Amino acid sequence: MRAEIVAVGTELLLGQIVNTNAQFLSRALAELGIDVYYQTVVGDNKDRIKQAIEIARDRADLIVFTGGLGPTLDDLTRDALAEYLGRGIVLHQPTMDKIEEMFSSRGVAFVESNRRQALLVDGASPLRNDTGLAVGNALAVEGTHYLLLPGPPREMKPMFTNDGSAWLRERLGASFALHSVMLKFAGIGESALEDLLIDLIREQADPTIAPYAKEGEVAVRVSTKASDPEDAARKLEGTLTEIRRRTADYLYAEDDVGIEAAVLRLLTGLRGTLSLAESCTGGMIAGMLTTVPGSADAFVGGVVSYSNGVKRKQLGVPEGLLEGEGAPGAISAETAAAMAEGVLAAMDTVYAVSVTGVAGPGSSEGKPVGLVYIGVAERGADTRVEKLQLSGDREGIRLRASKRALYLLWQ
Ligand code: ATP
Ligand code: MG
Repeated sequence: MRAEIVAVGTELLLGQIVNTNAQFLSRALAELGIDVYYQTVVGDNKDRIKQAIEIARDRADLIVFTGGLGPTLDDLTRDALAEYLGRGIVLHQPTMDKIEEMFSSRGVAFVESNRRQALLVDGASPLRNDTGLAVGNALAVEGTHYLLLPGPPREMKPMFTNDGSAWLRERLGASFALHSVMLKFAGIGESALEDLLIDLIREQADPTIAPYAKEGEVAVRVSTKASDPEDAARKLEGTLTEIRRRTADYLYAEDDVGIEAAVLRLLTGLRGTLSLAESCTGGMIAGMLTTVPGSADAFVGGVVSYSNGVKRKQLGVPEGLLEGEGAPGAISAETAAAMAEGVLAAMDTVYAVSVTGVAGPGSSEGKPVGLVYIGVAERGADTRVEKLQLSGDREGIRLRASKRALYLLWQ
């Protein structure tokens, strides 16, 4: 099945809002094994919506609309489709009851325009809206499938995930469902990873192999269409085994989790506790870890040791390392090691990680922007330090240093 997404809204054309609905739907449709060939944006104008339908009908079997199902006069999607198909509009009584009920429970007088949110193109199946009022529409006419979803993402997403995808699945048959495994990597760049897999990527047919890169993390999605999870697992096995063999040093998870969640999962499993001493990342690693629910099982706390004074007083980094003639300075392997060991002792954890470096834009201690040292201390083991020369702007350097620090811990 080939699909086109038609986002309706003049706000989108004016650049006032971002078309996040198209992104969500493209992904969700891919997961159902439906190929999205086009994304269209059209304003709140009935003639132009009808033109968009005419074009989409020629090149897609499924047209998914978002927006324009609300109560106001600029909400025209349903009317445009009904006119285009030469169909009438009918009232969906359960939605109407729900709308009236909502008005009476709030003690406000019914506003007639709200009736519009209970309307269906004649012959359409209703799609339940659990987070708003407008009912969605699903219908198939002469081989083309139409889904009408509301604009607000908080209404559109659950409607699609529940009734919308169920309606599509019925029409597709189960054998179309896309099953995929997300492999997550750290400590390797996108192009280096691609090099390791280049022949597999070039020769891919089924399963498909798609690399992604985002902010210091790389992922590869391996997908196949299959009738059930067991069948999918059988079809994916060979490719996954080969990728695992080639990338063992960098692969940290086989599901779509961030490195912070993977590290916490690992530490919790080992009953290992973690503390942090962050200089140039200024608490970013602590922030990343604490976005994960349950992080308290492994993460104890940290020191944002931005100044030399704090490095000295809170972490016990020797004065002689930080300042003075011939001292290695705050941005050095020696200081990174001392910071990690200092916080390990102060917080009595099994592991500790430290980061010290130059995030830019200016240099510091005469050292270049992007120079970062990461220390990893472990109770009863030698402290490791890694020196990095990162590129990019301040935020990019801080983010990559944070992810790398987590990755070193994971190793
Ligand atoms: P409402 O009942 O709120 O009027 P609607 O179905 O008529 O819903 P629109 O009027 O087109 O939808 O849009 C309502 C709001 O939904 C927009 O102001 C915007 O915040 C959000 N929205 C609409 N389309 C999109 C989109 N493509 N991506 C992200 N958000 C969107
Ligand atoms: Mg609207």
